[in-house]
Amino acid sequence: MRPGLYLALLFLFTTLAVTIGHAQATLENYALTGVTVVDANHARPLPHQTVVVRGSTIADIFPDGSKPIPDSVSLLRAENKYLIPGLIDTHVHMATDPSDVDNRAATLRVLERMLYSGITTVRDMAGDARILAGLSRDAWTGDILSPNIHYSALMAGPEFFKDPRTVTSTRGGVSGEMPYMRGVSPNTDMVLAIAEARGAGASGIKLYADLSPQMVNKIVAEAKRQGLLVWGHAWLQQSKPSDLIKAGVGSLSHAPLLLYETRDSIPASWKHGGHPARFWDDSVRADKAMLESMKQHHTVLDATLSAYKQWGVQDSARKYYYEIAKRLAAQAYKAGVTVCAGTDNDQEAFVQSELHLLVNDAGFTTFDALVAATRNGAMALGMEGATGTIEVGKMADLVVLDKNPLEDIDNLQSVYLVVKGGKIYRKTPL
Ligand SMILES: [Zn+2]
Repeated sequence: MRPGLYLALLFLFTTLAVTIGHAQATLENYALTGVTVVDANHARPLPHQTVVVRGSTIADIFPDGSKPIPDSVSLLRAENKYLIPGLIDTHVHMATDPSDVDNRAATLRVLERMLYSGITTVRDMAGDARILAGLSRDAWTGDILSPNIHYSALMAGPEFFKDPRTVTSTRGGVSGEMPYMRGVSPNTDMVLAIAEARGAGASGIKLYADLSPQMVNKIVAEAKRQGLLVWGHAWLQQSKPSDLIKAGVGSLSHAPLLLYETRDSIPASWKHGGHPARFWDDSVRADKAMLESMKQHHTVLDATLSAYKQWGVQDSARKYYYEIAKRLAAQAYKAGVTVCAGTDNDQEAFVQSELHLLVNDAGFTTFDALVAATRNGAMALGMEGATGTIEVGKMADLVVLDKNPLEDIDNLQSVYLVVKGGKIYRKTPL
């Protein structure tokens, strides 16, 4: 490059850097140069790459210096740094009680921290959709500092709607009779119920409790017809995991619930403390046919290890859950089931901690943990064509790291800058 042009760009960039840190930089077209690309398509990282971002999209990827960079593109030098897709947390709850703990100020603080930590997309798995619709809109436009938010409309048997969480997320209305928080029975007008869930802005239905296989089939069929995804808890009392898998439910949340494929309950003897690891290794066995069926149907497991880890820390009488959770997640992973990364821990810790647990307690390689929180998360959201990997034409949802996440998954903490929809986010000026 001509020295004059280089200086001009340097000046331009210094000027732009001042604006980075609040909302987004005004940089429209830029090239990250010298980066090592690490994503699901590259089990072996691709070093010395130039990644061109135009507007919200990844426009080009090529080895450094192998093509000229147009003058219209600003340069962002990122030598010795690592480029990964933006992280996806597939299980958050941002609006369970918007009048209290999930008030707007508190929620905005969490969303901002998530974004700066490298999370560019989250899936909210049931809450007040009136609030989530607004947050989702503001996150998409960039009016708030937040990952993009996809959310669900919950359906369950009518009994479930006494649950206090469903009451706080439907204030001013009636729990179980809201478009996004709906009790369903064989008499429900399913065409209307699904249409209303869509109208509430949900990307998917979340099946929660007390639903028969017939009801699950009915919901999935109508949701598919109307273009909505269906997700669920891995067990709905009346429906076993394999019922949900066969019905075409896209993702199953909570690894321990897979146990209910072959059991009616967790044996009381398991709940006593002090069992050695060998006891758990011998006792906790995922049904092989169920795992095989998950693979065949491309069902994604949303293991949520973080939630079970946290329960055990808060209450030692519930430590057994984590022993079960990490083993079932490990067995699903080993069998080749697609696992995504959801936390479900009320944002006490972010998805990076889920990946830490997948690696340290469930036998994931650092690469597969990263894939869980990127490509697999996108698959669970039906967004794999748009995000989750670093490919030309996909949304520029990216994180630049100072350190290699494949060497140590906790290197995800070494965030240099975050890109969401092409916009650059960084706490301090570059
Ligand atoms: Zn949840």
